[in-house]
Amino acid sequence: MFGVYLHRDGAGSVSHMTYDGLYALQHRGQESAGMATTTGEGVMVVKDMGLVTNVFNEYKLAGLQGHLAIGHTRYSTTGTSTWHNAQPVYRVTARNPARVRPVEFALGHNGNLTNTALLASAAGMLPGTVTSDSDVIGELLVRDLDSAPERDLVDALERVLPKLAGAFSLVVMDNERLVAVRDPHGYRPLCLGKLDEGWVVASETPALDIVGAHFVREVDPGEMLVISGDGTRSVYPWPPSEVDPRLCIFEFVYLARPDSRLYGQELHGARMRMGELLAEQAPVEADLVMGVPDSGMPAAEGYARRSGIRYGHGLVKNRYIGRTFIVPDQAQRAQGVRRKLNPLRSAIAGQRLIVVDDSIVRGTTTRAMVRMLREAGAAEVHLRISSPPYRWPCYYGLDTGTRSELIAANMTVPEIEDFLGADSLAYLSLDGLKRATGAVGAGFCDACLTGVYPTPPLPASVEVQLGRKEPVGTRLV
Ligand code: SF4
Repeated sequence: MFGVYLHRDGAGSVSHMTYDGLYALQHRGQESAGMATTTGEGVMVVKDMGLVTNVFNEYKLAGLQGHLAIGHTRYSTTGTSTWHNAQPVYRVTARNPARVRPVEFALGHNGNLTNTALLASAAGMLPGTVTSDSDVIGELLVRDLDSAPERDLVDALERVLPKLAGAFSLVVMDNERLVAVRDPHGYRPLCLGKLDEGWVVASETPALDIVGAHFVREVDPGEMLVISGDGTRSVYPWPPSEVDPRLCIFEFVYLARPDSRLYGQELHGARMRMGELLAEQAPVEADLVMGVPDSGMPAAEGYARRSGIRYGHGLVKNRYIGRTFIVPDQAQRAQGVRRKLNPLRSAIAGQRLIVVDDSIVRGTTTRAMVRMLREAGAAEVHLRISSPPYRWPCYYGLDTGTRSELIAANMTVPEIEDFLGADSLAYLSLDGLKRATGAVGAGFCDACLTGVYPTPPLPASVEVQLGRKEPVGTRLV
């Protein structure tokens, strides 16, 4: 997600800046992209299925004028991957003589609400009228605005936000303001940057760099930052007792870019430390350490450095393919690995390999990769994973499926080793992972590793309504 506010028209093209920001954030979602801008006289939205470069061209960007914009790339969790669910979500209030003009707003959401069905039924929304958790937020806001014409968007957000549960970093805009919100646990990142002529908010710091903004700070968990012609103003819609920072630890492991900074740490360095600790915790004799491109590479470098075993490349990645994990169905995922990776036979043949990857979720891609390495002549394949076993479903913005789909929830380490066809398999410990982040004492969500969910459990009926196969508890057994 990205948002920009310029203090005056003509200080820059907000659509081109948003395009650049979204391009830097493409890895966070590849299903659809969209943008909303305003000149102060109306909110215009352009969104479509596909990558940022597919959705926008010079002609469309030229038509998106103004001093204020938000943008979004989508990776679906709640709600299907369709044009209707592409973001930003747009809403406008009903005409009301008590208002000078209707309130229009647009909203981008990163995360996943855990009480979508409850919110929808409590508000009397008819089944099928709202199609995603983000759509429910938009609907609750417009209903709040319609119920009291003296309210503005910030008033409505203050009233609606405390009703939401789960993970939500938001960028919201009307004709005058840019609003950035992080839920009280701060599961998903969001940062603030400063331009000479305005402000930028973005999911990750590289999106600030690309538009020439300098990093100011992360938006705090539980903070609503309102940016307008009057400057910036922080509002705190939740009581302090509900604010408990739990940044998704997989942002450090895998999700965010290696050049992103979170909790004051650059992630490339943190990922190298994960590899170093993994080499200490799970040594093995071998000839070559290699990483699974791209996100396994820094940890492989760290493993090689600490173990003293030669580091090299054994797999070549097609640069034009998306992440295999961030696609919506299993068939696309399995096909993705064959399209994505090809072995370097001369580097692999006859070698005992240590293959470092960031995680194993379903095992589909890892199994295909191990087979590929063996066919290329690898003498041994030792898998080293720079995070602990992924055993519990994520309800906060990663579509990891149900427990039945998670390989580590259903098999022991030796069974997984056997299933994957590896000579050995070892994971980094949770303590090692937390130490490697370098963010001493910082709050993390690690529910998918421990089964301890920071946001209260959902009733089984809600799980059924959400279409999931099994209910979630604070700890599933
Ligand atoms: S459950 Fe796992 S993937 Fe989901 S937010 Fe928590 S740490 Fe991240």
